[in-house]
Amino acid sequence: MPEQVSPEGLATRAAEKHVVVIGGGIGGLIAARECAKVGMRVTVLEAADALGGAIRRAELDGVVVDAGAESFATRGGHVRALLAELGLEDRIVAPAAGGAWLSGIPGVGAAPLPIGGILGIPANPFQDDVRRIIGWSGVWRAYLDRIRPPLTIGHSHSLGRLVSSRMGAKVRDRLVAPVTTGVYSASPEDVDVDIAAPGLNAALTTAGSLSGAVQALRDEGAARAAKAPGSAVEGLEGGMAGLVDAVVADLAQLGGEVRTGAKALSVARSGTGWAVVAELAPDAAAAEAEEEAATEAMTADAVIVATSETVARSLLADAVPALAATEAAAAPEIEIVTLLLEAPALDAAPRGTGVLTVPGSHTAKALTHSSAKWEWVRRAAGERHVVRVSFGAQGEPAATARLDEEGAARLALAEASALLGVPLAEDALVAAHRARFVQSQPASIIGSAERREAARAAIRAVPGIAAVGAWLSGTGLAQVIPDAAEESDRLRHALLWD
Ligand SMILES: Cc1cc2nc3c(=O)[nH]c(=O)nc-3n(C[C@H](O)[C@H](O)[C@H](O)COP(=O)(O)OP(=O)(O)OC[C@H]3O[C@@H](n4cnc5c(N)ncnc54)[C@H](O)[C@@H]3O)c2cc1C
Repeated sequence: MPEQVSPEGLATRAAEKHVVVIGGGIGGLIAARECAKVGMRVTVLEAADALGGAIRRAELDGVVVDAGAESFATRGGHVRALLAELGLEDRIVAPAAGGAWLSGIPGVGAAPLPIGGILGIPANPFQDDVRRIIGWSGVWRAYLDRIRPPLTIGHSHSLGRLVSSRMGAKVRDRLVAPVTTGVYSASPEDVDVDIAAPGLNAALTTAGSLSGAVQALRDEGAARAAKAPGSAVEGLEGGMAGLVDAVVADLAQLGGEVRTGAKALSVARSGTGWAVVAELAPDAAAAEAEEEAATEAMTADAVIVATSETVARSLLADAVPALAATEAAAAPEIEIVTLLLEAPALDAAPRGTGVLTVPGSHTAKALTHSSAKWEWVRRAAGERHVVRVSFGAQGEPAATARLDEEGAARLALAEASALLGVPLAEDALVAAHRARFVQSQPASIIGSAERREAARAAIRAVPGIAAVGAWLSGTGLAQVIPDAAEESDRLRHALLWD
């Protein structure tokens, strides 16, 4: 028999519960909001002096743009639903259709990313824009895919292996690797086909070739898009940081408490609940007097850890010892340098909305011409241009990491010039902003699902503890947001009923 509790009884029970959320990125904020929605007392501890984590702003000579996440995948409709709930639906915008370019192609330089492929795999290797990149030898090698029996290699998990065995190394290295490095910060060898391109393996068996499978999936996608038109990613006028502001405002309305400059140091069992110790950043006066950071201990009925994987594993070492037996994923440190440029040569958007690079060909990993990609950025920048240059990927530290701010800006400017194919002298640079991030592993990396499930199972086995965020859901707002809501629902249900 389920326990009988009156609505008033439940409300009282909820109000008696205190949940501490460690980490004020989007995962932590969503989790906090879910708990506050049912009347629980919620405290969010954020180590940095601003909320949002990987969603943050850059201010360049008065132009405010996203320094980290700048869009969301429309897949699943979760982010759009949240934006609508927060009254931001009318600010949702689609990127310009300009298309991206590839740079660093041996013997070619730069060329538009061919249209009609999936993850860079072409549907037709003879297409002009494909031939331009892989040359005739690459085309004929890729054509072998059409005449080889489909099952000679069996079912392949590795995207890189599938592509090179069917269509050759040139397709893998020049077309697919730039996409996986740019999108997942990973080599094609490490990307799981079934997650990155669901249905591709099955279509390969039906169509008889990989390029045929790409064509079949594209046709299917086109049919779906005709029924429900829209782009695969969308953004928010004014920047994705507007989403963070709206969640924080809503959380405040619900009575949630948010503390920035509060870095959690430990989580330990205390009676039937938990004790969390945090280090508080000194306020301006204390910093001036060179006072040491103060620490504060607080008790909680439940703790939700919403940090990066490394921090979460260290904070949960005592509370969830079983976590130590699970495998940690590599998390590359990446840097994004955003540039505000006075460069009329960019008015014509010479490389569309951005550039992906052939791995090893450039110091930068990718570039986004933000003021060509987003109309709202173009308006905000006026006559000038906003360009984001990304550095670092899996197994490849960001080249800017060892440089000071000025050196990083200079390198980003030189890379932007090379990637955009226009001379950019130092006086073109109006302002620069540099941001560092830890990139959690995308869900589409081979072995990621098993790793995440094992960590989740260890954490879920401990009552009163939950963990959310990209290292558990897979990177990307379309993954983090619904996962954080689901996981906190599980926790709040257990707190009220168990
Ligand atoms: C550069 C970049 C660009 C991206 N672009 C996109 C995009 O365009 N579209 C998209 O969908 N996704 C994008 N992503 C992915 C997406 O932004 C992330 O998956 C998501 O924002 C992660 O949210 P999170 O809450 O898990 O972690 P985070 O945002 O990393 O938040 C974790 C928070 O925990 C805090 N913290 C850490 N340690 C402590 C501690 N001891 N005590 C208290 N607080 C602590 C951190 O300061 C941080 O604020 C991008 C990611 C990066 C890095």
